[in-house]
Amino acid sequence: MSKLEQISDHVVVDKETQYKSRSCISGGISLSKYSIAIDSGDSLEVGIDLRNELETYFKVPVKYLFLTHTHNDHRNGREAFKDLTLITSQKCIDNMPKSISFNKWKKELFDQELIVQADNLTLEFHHVGGHSVGSSIAYFPVEKVLFAGDLFITNPVNFGLPFMGFYQNKPKRTGNPEEYLVAFDKFKKMKINVIVPGHGRVILNPQEYLDEQITFYNSLKSFFVKAIGEGKKLEDIELPRLKQIDEAYKDAENRKQRSTTLRFLDNYLNWIKKSFYNYYSGKFDCLDIN
Ligand SMILES: [Zn+2]
Repeated sequence: MSKLEQISDHVVVDKETQYKSRSCISGGISLSKYSIAIDSGDSLEVGIDLRNELETYFKVPVKYLFLTHTHNDHRNGREAFKDLTLITSQKCIDNMPKSISFNKWKKELFDQELIVQADNLTLEFHHVGGHSVGSSIAYFPVEKVLFAGDLFITNPVNFGLPFMGFYQNKPKRTGNPEEYLVAFDKFKKMKINVIVPGHGRVILNPQEYLDEQITFYNSLKSFFVKAIGEGKKLEDIELPRLKQIDEAYKDAENRKQRSTTLRFLDNYLNWIKKSFYNYYSGKFDCLDIN
């Protein structure tokens, strides 16, 4: 049975595989004569499955693989698509670890944006950064669907909180909250019915969800700007108990493996804390974090 679920006329997603492996949400968009695969999952097996399922579902060949960003849970299935054309941002390619090469691939790379037009269907790709230096999104205006990659992680994965640990490989950098905010602003101006995040549940109330995210980032921004202005060091700062953080702790308290889960959450939140601190204290540009 197909794992693909229809989101709109030309769009499908696989939300199941992420719960069986450490994969991301993958998807596909059909542009009539061919389709585009979005993120290849965390293993070759997942990539092969995705390609087969897309070809069976849409009854047309897959022509492109779009990678939202460089992280391994999105790119590790790439070899299943190596005879196709890769679409991704130039920065995503520049940020690949040395061991990962796309030298032999056909590529359509972009700095800011790329538009693919097929008959009367248009698909847009925009570079946004934020989660990763090369992060970009796919927007399908005719059906108002946004594939946002890991700019968004929703419940039940990672308590619905953003992962800001690995923005850049060399030099190592934490997440860029200001790029997240610029991206959210851009999304607010788009007509969107559905946001497909990198992990978790598909977002069916995009406007409300975006407003919540904007409030979350802005609250943290104000908090850190003030704390840094008062001369506080990273180790003196404790994250404020914003609604999302409070809910995450309540959730963790009720889990079976309570102490392991709480440790995971502390560690996870620490990346958010470091990212905001580094960025707003001006350390972002000269970082080599450990
Ligand atoms: Zn990621």
